[in-house]
Amino acid sequence: MKFFSTRDKNEAVSFKEAIFRGLAPDGGLYMPETMPDLSGLIASFTPETPFIDIATSITDALLSEELGEGAAERICRRAFDFEPRLAEVDDNISVLELYHGPSCAFKDFGASFLASSMEELLKSDSRKAMILTATSGDTGSAVARAFYEKENIEVVILYPSGRVSPLQEKQLTTLGKNIRALEVKGSFDDCQRMVKEAFLDRELSEKLSLTSANSISLGRLIPQSFYYIWAWAQAAGHRDAESRSDLTFCVPSGNFGNLTAGIMAHIWGMKNKGFIAATNINDVVPEYLKSGEFAPRASKLTLSNAMDVGNPSNFERMLELFGESHEKMTDLIKEEVITDSETKAEIAKLLTEKNYEADPHTAVGYLASEHHIKQDGGRIITLSTAHPGKFSEVYEEATGKKPHMPERLLDVMKLEKKSTIVENTLEALKEAIN
Ligand SMILES: *Cc1c(COP(=O)(O)O)cnc(C)c1O
Repeated sequence: MKFFSTRDKNEAVSFKEAIFRGLAPDGGLYMPETMPDLSGLIASFTPETPFIDIATSITDALLSEELGEGAAERICRRAFDFEPRLAEVDDNISVLELYHGPSCAFKDFGASFLASSMEELLKSDSRKAMILTATSGDTGSAVARAFYEKENIEVVILYPSGRVSPLQEKQLTTLGKNIRALEVKGSFDDCQRMVKEAFLDRELSEKLSLTSANSISLGRLIPQSFYYIWAWAQAAGHRDAESRSDLTFCVPSGNFGNLTAGIMAHIWGMKNKGFIAATNINDVVPEYLKSGEFAPRASKLTLSNAMDVGNPSNFERMLELFGESHEKMTDLIKEEVITDSETKAEIAKLLTEKNYEADPHTAVGYLASEHHIKQDGGRIITLSTAHPGKFSEVYEEATGKKPHMPERLLDVMKLEKKSTIVENTLEALKEAIN
């Protein structure tokens, strides 16, 4: 299978090129050139099929032509020593928990698969690479954990000094080995600018084989389809097989990579009813679904801050998947917008009424699902994108209680921070990494 840029369909590249480039040279995002029909394979999965087998089979179907026999299994076995879980919170709403990975957020699935794929591909031509990435706090930890101890790959993470939470800082700075944290005297925007400048510096970029691992990478998009297919297969055991075609997935969204991966699974042959795009007040995609107008704007701060995105990059991919048709998109995707006060009330309500601990992003999705069911009925699987322990301040504010903290978050708090403080200039960055 080849991949093309959303902005130029004439130049197809391999999976390998697509993942080491990250963004296409024309600024577009990589997409599969043709959509395979995997409906037979997907229909063959049962509630007993382990997640790892589904991940391996889909990877094999998509990439074996390029990667050869056995690679899919090697990549997936190394990537996934964790699994999604499905919690039945209500008769008609289940929560697909995607936070049982190393950093306690759904981004672990994408980052782990990308890291394993890169390791596999570097091994075959004995190259080294350096991942350079900027984080505002939350997303860097999934990348750090995913690439930890991967062979021939060094990771450098830039984060703004004093502007990430204590837990986030520990998650970024305590791993060591091939993961280095640079604490930048400046803002997140400075960090992003420095990374951009480093990539534009040809000499530096070639010398160090700089590459990115950011969320628009094709290598992070593809694996996000696996858990939709796994959850859909689980639903076969729920009452009767027919319930699968009645299933709607609700996806709390920011940059819309997660939802895009679900739509791809649907197009490959996962026969579910549809999707709900749930957002906080950063609602440019719901606005588009309602009006047909896409009007990006500056993002606003909310309690579900991993979804504070004013110009979602993956919208370009969504348009492509629906042949630019607003009508086709709205046939499959419904929209819901949730405010901060609703989010807080929902976190409290889920705890008191369902005895379920939800983080703010999950609460957005859950309330959106309830709104949708009131109107349309049916059965919903809503995606839980982070462990409540990662957002314990908001959780406590909403409920007056502390969430259960997973061991791996408690452990990380005990480790010693190791970072290098750097000025907010390219020169300082060069000095640190060269
Ligand atoms: C990144 C993130 C999201 C948004 O996912 P997108 O793929 O960008 O739409 C939602 N919740 C959490 C916790 C996240 O980290």
